[in-house]
Formats: sequence, structure tokens, C-alpha cells
Amino acid sequence: MVKRMLSEFESYDLLKQYGVPVPEHAIVKTPAEAGKTAEKIGFPVVMKIHSPQIVHKSDAGGVIVSISSKQAAEEAFDKIVSNAKAYNPDAEIKGVIVEQQAAPGLELIIGGKTDPAFGKVLTFGMGGTLVELMKDVTLRILPITEETIRQMIREIHGYPIIQGYRGSKPRDEETLVQIMWAINCFFAENTHVVEFDINPVRLYESGACIVDARIFVD
Ligand code: ADP
Ligand code: MG
Repeated sequence: MVKRMLSEFESYDLLKQYGVPVPEHAIVKTPAEAGKTAEKIGFPVVMKIHSPQIVHKSDAGGVIVSISSKQAAEEAFDKIVSNAKAYNPDAEIKGVIVEQQAAPGLELIIGGKTDPAFGKVLTFGMGGTLVELMKDVTLRILPITEETIRQMIREIHGYPIIQGYRGSKPRDEETLVQIMWAINCFFAENTHVVEFDINPVRLYESGACIVDARIFVD
């Protein structure tokens, strides 16, 4: 079966329906529209390429962060589109996504995959480039309960950081439980979803926000 990747836009909209916090976002098709939309969302914004053929947007020069004026948003539109065309001349450019820039937070990863023998598996772990190298992740085969999710959170090595390590404030563990539960429901209910990667989820002292999502369907 051929897998198809949903766009970030589609992924956000699907996850939002389950109550997962996503940044305010919109697709724009012209520099002028980018400027207006950025102003409406409120600065700073992040702008990203929207193309089915471009999976890793940063690799294509397709992500610009900390855009803080209407003019900068207009310029970013042209820059992103020309970078994407240079990266892959055959890519279909559907537009540019303008989104609210989320504050820095503790970065976590929530993923799902379908194992040929065991079926759907939910994974959870610490994010951030360095920690990802150390693979601080845990996983469970679906179906699971909310208590399973609480166990998953407590069993990663990075859990003390969520609790508030050496003077840093504790993170919003309850919101994390709710988000993982929402994602579990999303995965269980959407039978055509075979794999996904929500990386990162930014967890704050209060609340959380996801800033990227890749969902594969069959
Ligand atoms: P890629 O397809 O390359 O993974 P991402 O959407 O993950 O592209 O964007 C690259 C990086 O830019 C993210 O890992 C994050 O650090 C930053 N970023 C992206 N979107 C946002 C946002 N809405 N708010 C804050 N930072 C963001
Ligand atoms: Mg990413």
C-alpha cells in the first residue's frame, strides 16, 4: 500500500479537532496575502513552504522563523518559494503557511507507527536534537488507558525535567496527559492513519503547543 503524507496544514486541522493545541495558521498564495495574514495573526510569525513533495521543509530552505513585520513577511514569501523551487524544481508549490510563533518550551516527541505483528504503537519521548540521539523514548501497543499514558510519561529518563529539575519550574504534566490522550484517540479512531510524528510538542509551565506534525495515511 502506498503511503501518502498529509500536509502540515491538514495535519494541524485534524489534530485540532481532537483538542491538540496547534499554532494559529493560514495558507497564503501571494506576498501581499502573507503580509496581511501575518499582521492578523500577530508578530512574530513563522512561515513555511506548503508542498506535497517537500517533506523536510527546513532542508529546502522552506522555514523562516521570527518574522516581525508585514514587509518581512512579504519578503519571506518570495524567499521561501524561490528556495523551494531551487531545491526541487518539480515540487508543486501550493502556497506558504503563516503561523503564530510558539514560545520556546521543553521539547517532546509523540509518534505512532503500525507494526505488522502488533498493530498500532504509540511512542513518547524527549525531543531536541541532542536528546533524540540518546533515544529517550517509550512505547505501548494500542489500546491503552489514560493510566498507561501517565506511566509512559513517568518512565522516560527525562521525566525529572518535566517535574522541575534543579530549580527549573515544573512543566504542565496534566496538559501533556490530555494531549497524549487526544493523540491516542486520533490514532485509534482514524484507521487509515498508519504512521505519524509530532515533533516537537513544546511543553510550558502552563499549557503546550505543537509546532510540526507529519501524518501518513494509506
Ligand atoms: P521541518 O519540515 O524541517 O521539520 P518544521 O515545521 O519542524 O520543519 O520547522 C523547523 C523548526 O522551526 C521547528 O523544529 C521549530 O524549531 C521551528 N518552528 C517551526 N514552526 C514553529 C512555530 N510555529 N513556532 C515556533 N517555532 C517553530
Ligand atoms: Mg520538524
